[in-house]
Amino acid sequence: MPSYRPSLVLLIISTSLLVLVISGIVGLGFIYSQELRNEQVNLRHHFAEKVSQFGSTINGRSLEAMKANSPDAKAISTEFLANLNRLTTPSGISSLEVYFEAKPGLSPEKIFSDKFGEIEEDQLGSLEMLETVKQSKEAVISVFPPNQSFPGRFKHALQYAFGAAEAPSLSIAKQVATSGKSIYLKVDATFSADIFSWGNILSKGHFLSLLGGLPLLLLIILSVAWFSKRFQGLDEGMHTVTERRFDYRLPDAGPPEVRKVHDSFNAMAESLRAATDEFQESIKEIQIAKRHAEVAQDAKSDFLANMSHEIRTPMNGIVGTTSLLMETALTNEQQELVQIMNTSGQSLVHLINDVLDFSKLESDKMELENEPIDLVGLLEETIEMFAYYAAEGQIELIYFLDSQIPNLIFGDRERLKQVFVNLLGNAIKFTHTGEIVITVNLSSRKTERGSDALIHVNVKDTGIGIAVENHERIFEAFTQADASTTRNFGGTGLGLAISRSLCENFGGTLNVKSELGVGSEFFFDIPFTEVPQQGSVKPQHLPENQQPLHDKSVVILTRNNALNTLLKTYCDNWKMQSHVAPKLDETVLQQIIGFAPSLVIVDPIALEHPAKMKAFADALIASKIPAIFLSSIGKNSIRVDEKQFPNIRSSNRSLS
Ligand code: ADP
Repeated sequence: MPSYRPSLVLLIISTSLLVLVISGIVGLGFIYSQELRNEQVNLRHHFAEKVSQFGSTINGRSLEAMKANSPDAKAISTEFLANLNRLTTPSGISSLEVYFEAKPGLSPEKIFSDKFGEIEEDQLGSLEMLETVKQSKEAVISVFPPNQSFPGRFKHALQYAFGAAEAPSLSIAKQVATSGKSIYLKVDATFSADIFSWGNILSKGHFLSLLGGLPLLLLIILSVAWFSKRFQGLDEGMHTVTERRFDYRLPDAGPPEVRKVHDSFNAMAESLRAATDEFQESIKEIQIAKRHAEVAQDAKSDFLANMSHEIRTPMNGIVGTTSLLMETALTNEQQELVQIMNTSGQSLVHLINDVLDFSKLESDKMELENEPIDLVGLLEETIEMFAYYAAEGQIELIYFLDSQIPNLIFGDRERLKQVFVNLLGNAIKFTHTGEIVITVNLSSRKTERGSDALIHVNVKDTGIGIAVENHERIFEAFTQADASTTRNFGGTGLGLAISRSLCENFGGTLNVKSELGVGSEFFFDIPFTEVPQQGSVKPQHLPENQQPLHDKSVVILTRNNALNTLLKTYCDNWKMQSHVAPKLDETVLQQIIGFAPSLVIVDPIALEHPAKMKAFADALIASKIPAIFLSSIGKNSIRVDEKQFPNIRSSNRSLS
């Protein structure tokens, strides 16, 4: 709820008015209560005087007339009360009581009473007054309201003004001596409260004293209006400066305080103008510098592109020619030298290609293809490129492809392969023992429109690892984890910079998790679009094709945990009952034969020796247990010889 805030002008004027009214009321109240007191004193005085005059006129005859309550007595009292009422305004009411003391010591007896108007019983003074008069021989006057201090009088004055007070009254008791007889007069009178009404007050013109405050109010209003105008000027100035018109100045006029504020404002506007001019100047300089840098960058990219192209053409000539030369009759020494020329030439072409790619990515000139890619084919092709090197280094090279991955996706095949090659090449280069596991899964990412399906590729090795402080550095161009890398492993430090840029161009990211001496894990997520086609699911992934495998028992026999897990995952996906053999001693092998599973998957290397493998294979054949023997490449592999086992069929088909 918006709260209402009165303007300063309104606030000051209304406060001043309020102060004026309050002080008027207090002032008038004071004057008026004084007035009330004076009035009371006057009344008392006149009242006492009239009663005394009346007392002095009472003689023996009139006393007798009162005792007899004769019309003469009535005429005397009526005249007295009428006379009294002149004091109390026409609507006043009064009463007269005459008491006679027959003998001294006896209580005075009422012999006559008369009243003017309807006086209430409780407005009559008490008889005790007579006793007091008897003892003191003095007249007793009781006043209502009694004489009060200022606050009480002030309250009464207000009550009279608003007609809320009881009517004032006076009672007087007096002893009158006539022909040696004691007579007591008790006279009560109630006045009309009208004498203190607003009309009465106004007629006295006290309120005119309030007019004295008006010039002050006028002064306040004028001052406020003047200040308000100054504030408006300042406000307008602020607005103008906010709109960046820094030339606006406030006038050098008015009292010193105002001039000081105007001067400060003008100084502020001036300094803002100077700062903006400087800022504009700097922006211009930055823009010029940026243009120069762009021109220089373009020139560098053009130069790199042209030079790379120019160098690549003759280099391809050299590589091609040395390849041809190697096929001619050469001496061993010549063959070796030409081989070195050929390898060096190829490295140079590779480096030139990297530099060219990097300069294209840096200048955003890389154009990506959008063609259908067979991801499985691409992955296997890349793995095959490195299989030989892995086998040579006795490194297990394993890959797992999620069955959910579609057959064909849209993308740039060559560029995706470049990323795979770089990650796998690095993994092979920096791993001396253990394994390299490549997994390709589906994942998703939340977007504004919903969620994107992503392909998550992870290349994990058990190589030398990378120190935490180098995790980000290695993605910078021409940067390696440490200075000894080039010496020991070669390389330019461009591969990961290019791969990360490519992944970003695909709409994804490339990152690393690694621990020095333990291994590294490079992973990237890229969004993809499936190529619409008939039967996008691979035939072997169709549920009905997997039906025959359901609930079949399978024993997996390899010596590599990663491979065990991978094979188990495949078998579990096909809903088979999979068992991984813990170790491969004679007893376990016998147990497997005894268990007679539906299928045995064996990595011959796990059996360590060809003779042991032959014995196990013979036992499987004898028990008619179907088996798949995995074959590997490299010098150290133990192969199943097809001549020895005519029942064995070789297959190159991948598991996926
Ligand atoms: P290059 O391999 O040509 O030096 P890269 O950009 O591909 O350039 O890699 C940069 C650096 O990152 C490498 O020199 C190496 O120090 C480190 N690196 C990359 N991959 C791995 C890995 N799998 N294991 C350990 N270090 C790695």
